[in-house]
Amino acid sequence: MNFDELIICTRCGSDACYKQEITKDISIEMCYGCGFQSNSLMKKGTEFFNEQWELLPELYKVLMDEEDETGKIWMPSTINIKDKGMVFANGTGRDDWYWSGVKAHNDPEKGWKTDMTTIKNFPERDFIGALSYIGVLPE
Ligand SMILES: [Zn+2]
Repeated sequence: MNFDELIICTRCGSDACYKQEITKDISIEMCYGCGFQSNSLMKKGTEFFNEQWELLPELYKVLMDEEDETGKIWMPSTINIKDKGMVFANGTGRDDWYWSGVKAHNDPEKGWKTDMTTIKNFPERDFIGALSYIGVLPE
């Protein structure tokens, strides 16, 4: 059975939003168009929200948006794939941020490690470019 489906992103309007139902009450939306994600548990005032908030980098807090009608919270995604690398939001504020891609390198002694010398920045609209750069998607 497959509960995953592609839907229209309510944040950016692209049709590359991937919705995954974890249970009948909990779903996650992950948009490859804008790189943002939302989780149906993530509502302001809930314990889950407060826990997540504590862990978030400052920039993620600044970039977080709440939909007026639904209370749905959108925040930037962080992709971390052991043998590929990482993609994360990077920058100083809402007016100055970008996606950073960092490739992973297989060290014979230490195993897979992200190699910060490979860091490359992509504009806000090019989340897909950053994913392609670390090899998650074909170039
Ligand atoms: Zn989107």
